[in-house]
Amino acid sequence: DADTAMYHAKAMGRNNYQFYTQEINKKDNDRLTLETDLRKALDRDEFQLHFQPKINLKNGKVVGVEALLRWKNHPNVSPAAYIPLLEETGLIIPVGEWVLRTACNQIRAWQAEKLPALHIAVNLSVRQFSQKDLIDTISRILNETGLEPYLLELEITESLLMDNKESNIAILTNIKNMGVRISMDDFGTGYSSLSYLKRFPIHTLKIDQSFVKGITTNADDAAIAGAIINLAHSLRLNVVAEGVETQEQHDFLLQNDCNQAQGYLISRPLPAAEFETWLKARNA
Ligand code: C2E
Ligand code: MG
Ligand code: MG
Ligand code: MG
Repeated sequence: DADTAMYHAKAMGRNNYQFYTQEINKKDNDRLTLETDLRKALDRDEFQLHFQPKINLKNGKVVGVEALLRWKNHPNVSPAAYIPLLEETGLIIPVGEWVLRTACNQIRAWQAEKLPALHIAVNLSVRQFSQKDLIDTISRILNETGLEPYLLELEITESLLMDNKESNIAILTNIKNMGVRISMDDFGTGYSSLSYLKRFPIHTLKIDQSFVKGITTNADDAAIAGAIINLAHSLRLNVVAEGVETQEQHDFLLQNDCNQAQGYLISRPLPAAEFETWLKARNA
């Protein structure tokens, strides 16, 4: 109905809303159906991770992968479309734990197969920070899987800096002290004050893809991306560009000293087996 539609339109943004109506909600028009389906999805093993490589721009080497959630029944729907609902229902807690464990296990499996060492980046939603045992969960999963903490990178967004600032800083500091890295995703799109950057134990800034999109065609986007790269270097942070789709964007970023790149130019996010094939071919 109209209220439900409005709810989703607001929560998910216009593009995701279109996906939602076209893909997920073809037959049933209520939010409850989606919620019920999401509740069952974990038990029924309907979630999957795709992996997207990040390269070192200077030497082209694959340095790591970002794990991205996929719902097998709706492979073309961005998780951005249902993560708000996962958060609202609290399902993000068990799903987030599943993502973390599956991602760490995958890297261990690739280590066992003697693939070159890869970092794994996992997205954390703000809601996971209100879970009181987040630190325990991370450390338990590292123990269970045997992954070296420095290979794990947690991607957070600026919205984390807005509410519960002090307690979130404390949690992030604990995570950092475990040896796990923290990356600021979608940087430049939030409302955070730059002064928080020095208080947050961040290892990496990820330039949001909205700026990367225009770097070779729009002087403002180029200036913003350049400024973020300089800011990162001044603060001794690693800097990654996401959403790199063209060789021109790649070359601009390389010339402007960006450390790493991620995007369709290099590879789309791929299921584990396909990523493995892709990596072997690239390294051959
Ligand atoms: P994100 O963390 O910023 O991830 C990057 C998104 O950009 C991914 O969308 C990826 O598929 C897409 N992308 C990568 N390269 C390109 C490119 O060259 N061009 C374009 N147009 N897009 C590119 P995806 O997989 O749909 O995920 C959307 C968002 O959903 C993620 O944004 C992240 O915020 C969230 N998300 C994904 N997986 C998880 C998860 O396991 N947990 C949580 N909490 N959030 C997740
Ligand atoms: Mg991310
Ligand atoms: Mg991002
Ligand atoms: Mg994003």
